[in-house]
Amino acid sequence: MTSVSKNVRNYFKLDLLIDRSNLKLRQLFKNRYSLFNNGKVWDDSPTCGNNYLTNTIAHNKKKLNLTPVEKTSVASGDSNEWDLTTLSALLLNIDRPKTLNTAQIEQLDNEDRLLNQLREIRNKLAHHQKKSIDDVEFNQLWTELSTILVAFGYIDSELDKLKDDSVFEFSSQSINDENVKEAKKLNSLASQAHKNLNFSDAITLFTKAIVLAGVPDHDRAIFYSNMSSTRLALYEQESESSNNFEIEDSTDQRYRALCDAKKARALWPTWWKGHFRVGKVYTVLNEHEKAINSFERALTLDPINNEIRKALDESRQIYGRQIRQEHLDPRLKPTTMSEHLNEMQQKMGTNPAHVRAGHALIQEIDPAGADVVKGHKYEHGDIDVKQDYEQAAKYFAKAASQGNAEGMYNLARLTDRGLGVEKDHNFALKLLEEAAAQPPKHPIFNAFPNLGVAEAEHSLGLRYAEGVVVHKNLVAAAYWYERAVDHGSAQSANNLALMYLHGTGVDKDLDKAEQLLQLSARRGDPNAMLTLATLLCGKNDLKMAKNWYDRACESGNIIAEINRPMFEQALQVIQKLVDCCPPNLLQVINPIKNAFDSLQTGKTAYKRCDHPYIYDYNVLNGYANRGSITAKTLCDALEHFAQALNILTQSESITETQENIFVHELAECYRIEHIVAQIPGVKMYKKIVEIVDRVLHRCNVESTSVASQLNEDVLICYALLHIDSYELIIKFLGSCKQKYPKSIYFFRLSASVNGWLHRYEDTVFDANTGLEIDPNYYELLYSKAVALRLLDSDMNEAIEAYRAFLAVAPKDHRKVPESYYAMAACYFYIHKLDGLAGIVKKVYKQAEDAEKVQLLCFLPYESDNKTLLKSMFDAQSLPDAEIVAPRRDHKLRLTNPHRIEVIKQHREWEAKSSFVQNNATLDLISGSHQPRVRQQTAKSLIGLKAISLKEMDPTTDHVYDGYVLSVTIIEQTYTWTPSIHLVIEDENFDCERMFIYSFPDGQGKYLTNKVFTIGSKMNIINPYLRLGGTDMKSLVRIDDFSSIIMQSESEQVLNMCRCCGEPNALHVCSKCKQARYCTKECQTIDWQLYKHKFICQRQ
Ligand SMILES: [Zn+2]
Ligand SMILES: [Zn+2]
Repeated sequence: MTSVSKNVRNYFKLDLLIDRSNLKLRQLFKNRYSLFNNGKVWDDSPTCGNNYLTNTIAHNKKKLNLTPVEKTSVASGDSNEWDLTTLSALLLNIDRPKTLNTAQIEQLDNEDRLLNQLREIRNKLAHHQKKSIDDVEFNQLWTELSTILVAFGYIDSELDKLKDDSVFEFSSQSINDENVKEAKKLNSLASQAHKNLNFSDAITLFTKAIVLAGVPDHDRAIFYSNMSSTRLALYEQESESSNNFEIEDSTDQRYRALCDAKKARALWPTWWKGHFRVGKVYTVLNEHEKAINSFERALTLDPINNEIRKALDESRQIYGRQIRQEHLDPRLKPTTMSEHLNEMQQKMGTNPAHVRAGHALIQEIDPAGADVVKGHKYEHGDIDVKQDYEQAAKYFAKAASQGNAEGMYNLARLTDRGLGVEKDHNFALKLLEEAAAQPPKHPIFNAFPNLGVAEAEHSLGLRYAEGVVVHKNLVAAAYWYERAVDHGSAQSANNLALMYLHGTGVDKDLDKAEQLLQLSARRGDPNAMLTLATLLCGKNDLKMAKNWYDRACESGNIIAEINRPMFEQALQVIQKLVDCCPPNLLQVINPIKNAFDSLQTGKTAYKRCDHPYIYDYNVLNGYANRGSITAKTLCDALEHFAQALNILTQSESITETQENIFVHELAECYRIEHIVAQIPGVKMYKKIVEIVDRVLHRCNVESTSVASQLNEDVLICYALLHIDSYELIIKFLGSCKQKYPKSIYFFRLSASVNGWLHRYEDTVFDANTGLEIDPNYYELLYSKAVALRLLDSDMNEAIEAYRAFLAVAPKDHRKVPESYYAMAACYFYIHKLDGLAGIVKKVYKQAEDAEKVQLLCFLPYESDNKTLLKSMFDAQSLPDAEIVAPRRDHKLRLTNPHRIEVIKQHREWEAKSSFVQNNATLDLISGSHQPRVRQQTAKSLIGLKAISLKEMDPTTDHVYDGYVLSVTIIEQTYTWTPSIHLVIEDENFDCERMFIYSFPDGQGKYLTNKVFTIGSKMNIINPYLRLGGTDMKSLVRIDDFSSIIMQSESEQVLNMCRCCGEPNALHVCSKCKQARYCTKECQTIDWQLYKHKFICQRQ
C-alpha cells in the first residue's frame, strides 16, 4: 500500500465513493420500477430482466444506447451486477408514466438532477489524464460527491470513514486458516489446469476456491482475476471457428470474465491487476475506449509495468484507427505494385514500363531507394514477387540502415503491427523519430521530397495525439502535424485542421482550419474534401461545396458516397432558402445548419418512420370510444398484431396452419397501420422471418402462378420485414403489383420506398395508379403530395395535393400537421419573404392548431418544415443591428499555406535553377515530364466560359476545354529552362504555379524580362491543370503558346506589392532594390513566410 502515492490513493478513494453510490441507485431503480409499473416488484430474476428489455426498453421513446454488455447485464435481471453507467442510463431515460402527481414528478426531477451531477463527476474522474489527484482537488471533489450522496440518503459520518487510508487495507474479517490453505491449494491446482489448457476444469476449481468462507479479500481478488483470464482463454479456444462478435447472453464467457474481473477489482481496488483484467476483457469485446480507461488505472498503480503499458499502447492505437475509420480510407487499401503503377498511369500518365525501367536504373544511383522498392513489392506482391512480410521488413531494414527515411518509416509501420517482424511500439517510435530527423528533400534528387519524412512526422503526430508509447500531448501532436504539413502531408493537414476547428491542443481558429482543409483536400485527402464540403455548405458557398463533395466521392470516400442523396437533398433545401432570402438574413437562419446537420445523421426530408412511439392499447381504446378514427385504426391494427404474437408465444413449435394464420394476422396489421407492428427483440424478428420464408416457399411450391389470400398476405409480410433493403424490395414490389393489380397496399408500399430512394417521379406514378383503385386512399394522397413537393417543379401542384389529402384524412391523422407545415413551406418558396406576413403565417397557424388534436402518442410533434419556418420567423423579427454581413478579408490569403508553398517553391527553384542547369545527370531525372494530355488552343474564342482556379480539380490531371482562365502574374521570373515558371493569381485571389513550354526558340529572355512581368494580366484558353510534374503537385501547364492572350498594358498593376498585390507600392527592398512593398508589414511577411532571401540577391 505504501508504494502507492498519496495523490493516486486520493483518486481511488473518490472512485470507491462513487462505487458506493451504486447501492443507493439500485434501490432507487427498484422504487421507480414499482412506481412506474403499478406496484410490481423487481426481483432481480432473469425473467424480470428479459421482460424489461423487450417490453420497456425496446419501446422506450427516448433511445437508450446500451452496449451489448450492458444489455446482457440488464437481461440477467441481477441489479447487483449493474454499474453506474447502466444504472444512470436506466434511471435518467426510462419514460415516466403520465399518471404521476406533481409531488412525485418533483421528487423524480430532483433525483435526476443529483444523478446528473454524480455522472458528471464520474466522467471527470474517468477522463482524468493522470489518475492522480492532489489534496486541494480531492477535498473539493469529496465535498461535492458526499453532498450528493447525503442527498441520496447516506450518512455523512459513514462516508467520512472512507476517507481514511484503511479502506485499502485488509478489512477486519475473521480468517479461517483451514479454508485459506484449501483455497490456495485449489488456486494452484486451477492454475496448473490452465497451463495444461484444461480451462473448464480450471474454472471449476477457481469457483470452489472463491466460495470458501473466511478467506482474505485480497486472496479472493487473485482467484477472481485468474478465473477471468481463464475464461477469456476458454472463449478463445471455443470461438476459433465462429465469428460471433456480439455478446448474446450472460452465459457468454466474455461476459462472465468481465464480471469476475470486476469482482477482483472491487475486492482489491488498489491492485493493478484487477483493473488490468477488466481492460483485457474490454479489448476482447472490442470496446477499446473502456479498455484504455482501465489500463490507465492499472498503470497508475504500477507505473513501470511493461505488460500494462503494452496493452495500453495497443488499445490506444486500435481505438485511434477506429475513430479515424481507417478501414474506410481508400488510400490505406493494400495495393500490389502493378495496381499502384496502373493507378499512376491513369492519374498522371506515367508509363508503368518506364517506371519499372526507372526502378532498375535507381539501383545504380540510389541502392537504398532500390531496397525500398523491393520492400514494397514484397509487402503487397508484384507480378514476379510473392507477397512476404518478412522479406518486406528485411528490405526496409536494409534501406533504413543506409539512412533511407522511407525504409525507416515503412519498417516502423510493419513493426507497429507485427507484420514480418515482432510487434514493438517502442522500436517503431525510435524508427519514426529517426526518419523524421532526415532532410525533407531527397539527398540525391533534390527536386523530390524525401519520402518517409513527412509520413514519419505524421505518425509521430498521431502517436502524441493518442499517447501510444509516449505521453499524450496535444501540443506535441500539433507540432509534428505542422512539420508534416510543411513537408507535404495531406493527412496531417486534415488532422491539424480538425484541431483548429474544435480548438483542441491549439486555439480555435476557423479561418486557419478552412485553409488547412483546403490544403489537405487539394493534396488529395478524401476526408478533408468531405469536411470542406460541409463547411462551405454552412457558408452558403453551394457551388464549391458541391464541387468538393463530388471530388470526395471520386476519390473513394465511402461515407460521402453513401450520403450523397442526402447531401443533394440538403443542398436543394439550402438553395431554395438562398433564393428566398437576402444574404444578410441567411447568416442568422438555423435551417442551414440543420440542413447539413441532417447530412451527418442521415436524416432526410422524406425520412422513414423509425418507430419512436409507444402504442398503449387501453389509452388508444379510450380515444377510439370518444370518436377518434385514428385511434380506432391503431387499435384495430394492434389487435391483429397481438393475435399474431399470441400464436408465436403460445407454444415452441407451431403447425403449418398456425403459421398461415400468423401470416394473415400480421398482414392485416400491416394493411391497417404498419407502424404499430413493433417486433420485440432480434430473436423474435428472426423467428418471424423464418416463418414468413417457409410460408412463402409453400405458396411457391403449391401454386406458382395462382393468386390467393395467403399468397398476397405473405408477400406483404415479406416486403415489410425486409423494407430496409430498398433496391431489393422495390423490385419485389414490382412483381407484386403485377400479380395483384387490385391490391392498393402494394402501391402504397412502392410509393413509400420510391420516396426513400428519392425517386419522386416513380412515387407519383405509384400513387396515381393506386388512386385509380381508390381515389380517397389518403395514405397515397399524402405520399403523392410529399413527392410533388420534393420534385420541386410546381409548388402550387404540391399544395393542391396536400389539400386533397387533408380533405379526406381524419382530423387527427398524424400527417395532418405536417401537411400544413409543408404547405406553409411551399407558400414561402412561392412568395419569398413577402409571404411570411400573410399566407405562410396563416397556414403555419393551421398546422399548430392541428397539432392540438393529435393523439398523445404522436407528441411532441416533430417536423423539419416547422423548424425551418420557425427560424425564418425568428430571424425576421431580429433587429437589423444583429444581422451582420459576412466578413471578407483578402489579407487572410497571405497566410494561406498553399500560397506560401507555391511562392516558396517558385523562389527556391529560381535560386537553384542555375545549379540544376549545369548538372546533366540530375537534369535527366528531375527534368520535365511528358504531359498526360496535350493542351491546345480553341479554334475560336466564341462561347468560352470563364473558370477560376478553385473550380479546377487540384486532384485530377485535366484540360478544361471550352474555358478561359484570367490571371495576374504575381512573381518575378528569371529562368526559362526547361520551361518558364510563373506564379499566377486569379480573381478570387487563389494562386498557383504556371509552367510554359514550347515558347518560340530564343525568346526566353525577352519573354521573362519584357512580357511575363509582375503585375501583367493574361487569359489562358483551354487551361490544363497538370498533376504529377516533378513533385506530383498541381500546376497550370501551357503547351500551346498561342493559348496565352496577354491583356493590354493599361490593365497592368503598376508597382505591385510583392506581398499583397496592391498597386503603387512605395517601399523598395534596400538590398535588391527591386521588390516593392506597400507597407513594412508586407515586407516582413514576404521575408519571413515567402522567403524573399532566395531571390533577393538576383538581378
Ligand atoms: Zn502590400
Ligand atoms: Zn530584396
